[in-house]
Amino acid sequence: MEETKKETLLLNRDNGYDRISAAERAELDTYCEGYKDYLDKGRTERECVTETVAMAKARGYRPLARGEALKPGDKVYRVISNKSILLAVIGRESLEKGAVIGGAHIDCPRLDLKPTPLYEDSELALAKTHYYGGIRKYHWVSIPLALHGVVCKADGTTVTVRIGDEPGDPVLTISDLLPHLADKQSKEPLWQAIKGEDLNIILGSRPVPEKDEKERVKLMVLNLLNEKYGITEADLISAELCAVPAYAPADVGLDRSMIGGYGQDDRVCGYAVLKALFDSEATLQRTGICILTDKEEIGSYGLTGMDSAYFDIFLADLCRAQGADLNTCIEHSFCLSVDVTAAYDPNFANVYDVRNAARLNRGVGLCKYTGSRGKSGASDAPAEVVAYARRVLDADGVVWQICELGKVDEGGGGTIAHYMTRRGIATLDAGTPLLAMHAPFEVSGKLDCYMTYRAMRAFYNN
Ligand code: MN
Ligand code: MN
Repeated sequence: MEETKKETLLLNRDNGYDRISAAERAELDTYCEGYKDYLDKGRTERECVTETVAMAKARGYRPLARGEALKPGDKVYRVISNKSILLAVIGRESLEKGAVIGGAHIDCPRLDLKPTPLYEDSELALAKTHYYGGIRKYHWVSIPLALHGVVCKADGTTVTVRIGDEPGDPVLTISDLLPHLADKQSKEPLWQAIKGEDLNIILGSRPVPEKDEKERVKLMVLNLLNEKYGITEADLISAELCAVPAYAPADVGLDRSMIGGYGQDDRVCGYAVLKALFDSEATLQRTGICILTDKEEIGSYGLTGMDSAYFDIFLADLCRAQGADLNTCIEHSFCLSVDVTAAYDPNFANVYDVRNAARLNRGVGLCKYTGSRGKSGASDAPAEVVAYARRVLDADGVVWQICELGKVDEGGGGTIAHYMTRRGIATLDAGTPLLAMHAPFEVSGKLDCYMTYRAMRAFYNN
């Protein structure tokens, strides 16, 4: 058959590196340096919000005031309880033409300290944790951990904690069992060999000198915390202290084609949406909105999750600022729910449908549906919405692929998509394929990271 005819008939499954220009190749590397920096600075959702506000302010964004009038080109943001953030750039067209929304989450699986975490056992000071999100518990032992978060004191002041990242900082860790004594443990199923209540972080081992005191090692740790942060054991009750991996992101592979690091689900998409909005400020027809939300990893509930009304309030405030009808805006809006997907892993080939799995370096993955079993929990975008996405991405030369997470009945997952469709907003899932998703060292392909950004930029400019 004629080569051009064949190209027309068959879906293009070429490696992304065969489909981009030299200029895009260079832009991709620059983009990924910015992404790695963002990933390094934001190890918790709070830190991502802080970093995002700094970046936005530097570009002239200001907090949205309720009741103010907005005009095309205005750049505003709103922070929700220091854990989620919304940004908007007002387009040339009325909001009644709809907004273009990119939504990603900035919370990641981790170990949270319990409300009364500190105890001493056998002259070691330890901290009890309660894991947040879908972790594989065996990943979290015998790795260096940092402690990030806030302590909100009863007097109304907040202390920021960040231990383990600066050069010269100590790190924390959770011990694993030595193989010499692990005969029984090794025979346990993977999911219960390390139990949730075993994820206790070692904080110290040196006692205070006063020999008549009880729990002298715990006392020493409390003393150090008090000296550095002015906090007491009671203050930990109103704290959010998160144990996260204590290492920075790094290039992976001899060819440096990949990025390894903690928290890429879903900060890889969060950064892509944010950067795409920044780079579209001058060209937007319709109003562009960037959502960086908290709580996706535990079901999107809570004040700062997508189940909360915070997004509805923000959109209503934007519409009121233009005298636009909210319902008309919603009906004409489009949302890309940008969240990572699984990249085909030859080490675990049996869980993927090889014909429908995302591949590293084939670009951003579009998912018509997520969910598990019979698409349970999926929003399953209408074919018309998928066709719209194909049109927009192809017109802008974005490298993309269509994908499903894994084999039918092998498992599954969800995103914030159904919280957006519940609001009546046409929504499609898309995201960067990852290897080792939810591990403390997730791996992405640089080309796919960049194409996630390019996809969002194409939607903003459509
Ligand atoms: Mn995710
Ligand atoms: Mn996740």
